[in-house]
Amino acid sequence: MKSLAEIADTLLGYDPDALAAQSVNTFLAGMVPLPTQTEALALMQALGRVLAQDIISPIDVPPHDNSAMDGYAFDGSALSANKPLQLQIAGSALAGKPFSGQIGAGQCLHIMTGAILPPGLDTVVPQELVKVHKNCIEIAPGIVQPGDNRRLRGEDVHCGSVALTKGSVLGPAALGLLASLGLPKATVFRKLRVAYFSTGDEILSLGDSPREGAVFDSNRYTVSGMLQCMGIECIDLGVVRDDPDLLESAFLQAAAQADAIVTSGGVSVGEADHTKAMMRQLAHSDTAGEGGVAFWRIAMRPGRPMAVGRIGRVPLFGLPGNPVAVMVTFLAFVRPALWQMMGASPNDPQVQCPMLQARSSEAIRKKPGRTEYQRAIVSRTADGALQVRITGQQGSGVLSSMVQANGLMVLPHGQGNIAIGDTVEVMMFAGVL
Ligand code: AMP
Ligand code: MG
Repeated sequence: MKSLAEIADTLLGYDPDALAAQSVNTFLAGMVPLPTQTEALALMQALGRVLAQDIISPIDVPPHDNSAMDGYAFDGSALSANKPLQLQIAGSALAGKPFSGQIGAGQCLHIMTGAILPPGLDTVVPQELVKVHKNCIEIAPGIVQPGDNRRLRGEDVHCGSVALTKGSVLGPAALGLLASLGLPKATVFRKLRVAYFSTGDEILSLGDSPREGAVFDSNRYTVSGMLQCMGIECIDLGVVRDDPDLLESAFLQAAAQADAIVTSGGVSVGEADHTKAMMRQLAHSDTAGEGGVAFWRIAMRPGRPMAVGRIGRVPLFGLPGNPVAVMVTFLAFVRPALWQMMGASPNDPQVQCPMLQARSSEAIRKKPGRTEYQRAIVSRTADGALQVRITGQQGSGVLSSMVQANGLMVLPHGQGNIAIGDTVEVMMFAGVL
């Protein structure tokens, strides 16, 4: 396992006081471990889990050439460009009830969707396109081509090919695909366990009596929700006061039970921010040399301060206290790192928040030199183009802005002011969170 200093050395121009947002992802990718433990689960239990091995298909899917329509199967080489084709119906085939006789020249087979196409029959004309007189059909010229309406053996998955790769997140389609291969179980990585707590003397748990200067803890609810959306097992360690001894025991308890730790608050320069001193102390007392903690000021808004490191071998993500900053830093940095710890491929469609480009329907002030994540609503204009507007107040404590938004407008580091109609990038989180 590389030390934090070694990881920092791989980042060009690493400056903990002005770290570019992209460098944070690179750092975290170097810091978090990959999963090792796996389990075999029945498919129905494997939704949202990450596949731990490539799946080589043991069969062809579909297993035989079959009809894509209810109609008549025949030898397509008999079709002519300008004359109708007349064929005698020799029998019928249904899905699960194949035709066992012979089909001679000038004959066809009445066939239903999914029924096996016998050898020599390569074309199906849908039944609504033919004229039937007694025991014969007539196919007008030009309505079908040879090979139409046929599904080929193995056209979905070939026997021996890789049907799904290690690191795929098993969504409903992947579960169905595994089932179509006849595989009752999937070997997936063990569920990740993440412990989290909020810090601050002013933070009330739900049920506490309100008191002057205190606020209810919202961060534990957003963090728990975001972790649950990823299928992570949550360990809720509550609210911890700004007290070095209590913080130390919370960190040790978290590290003993969890694969990763997420905290909020206490990482800025405020006087009561004991988290920093505590993390440093814990990191130093670690004898294996794997622990360590770095404090960053990230060139971003919201979410400037962040602490990252390891308590022993357990990665720690110390997020800012402000509720919107918690969600933004989680989405931008923690979520990709946790998916990596879960074994997911970085490009898996379930892992990536979709990025869209849309026209800004308003002018936005933006200083170059930091990445901004504005809470935004993407919608369509009357002519169908994508447009995006920001959700009013953008303060890092205004959690209602996150509730209204369906994405984050990402204004990159070097970007200056945005004019009405400029194209901007939006990271969509609707459907992800
Ligand atoms: P801190 O980073 O600890 O200085 O906190 C920054 C701001 O976020 C302060 O206004 C805190 O009251 C607020 N804050 C910190 N933790 C929470 C929390 N768990 N829920 C709601 N607000 C919080
Ligand atoms: Mg605090």
